[in-house]
Amino acid sequence: MTFEQLELDSVLVRALADMGYAKPTTIQSQVIPEAMSGRDIMASAPTGTGKTAAFLLPICQHLLDFPRRNAGPTRVLILTPTRELAIQIGEDAKKIVKHTNLRVEVITGGVHESQHLPALTKTTDIVVATPGRLLQYIDRESFDSRDIEMLILDEADRMLDMGFIKDVDRIAAEARWRRQTMLFSATLEGRGLMSFAADLLKDPVQLAA
Ligand code: AMP
Repeated sequence: MTFEQLELDSVLVRALADMGYAKPTTIQSQVIPEAMSGRDIMASAPTGTGKTAAFLLPICQHLLDFPRRNAGPTRVLILTPTRELAIQIGEDAKKIVKHTNLRVEVITGGVHESQHLPALTKTTDIVVATPGRLLQYIDRESFDSRDIEMLILDEADRMLDMGFIKDVDRIAAEARWRRQTMLFSATLEGRGLMSFAADLLKDPVQLAA
């Protein structure tokens, strides 16, 4: 299996070559076609399996296939439990969009608000965020969630363990007009996680790395 066979745009495949990714990992070849068909995804994929690119690539392909007509708010929101993970995903995303006009911003706690001004005021395609700080901006009506088309919950098990369930539920409710949701978790076990997933996903495909 190659990235070309996954029907990814050549501008994305070129970025992957720059990153030294020669061929898709197992989770990438499982998730990318299902995600590109528009299905909701529920995947057990621990860190190290290549799960970040497994969601970033179909996101970018969607944004390229359906370009925005006007400047406007965020179209894809990725939630992750920690600042470090958000920064890492943001860096990977910026590498993947390198040969496109897509814009990526990161919103986390622990940094001054002024650093988030581009994410809040400029046209941004993908926002990677930790739930707490993002919710503050939503409550203040500084972050506009109306145009979110895709919601990704990364490390959902850790978000639950860290007590983010209410915050994530509220953010998902704000993004209720989305057309696709993807949930990634180290494991897909436990009643808490399964009922959380059942509330947020519509007829998901279940995949395991
Ligand atoms: P992740 O599970 O997303 O944290 O990725 C684990 C590591 O694998 C990261 O260092 C990625 O840069 C790398 N990686 C992801 N996909 C590929 C790929 N297709 N080929 C080579 N390395 C990859």
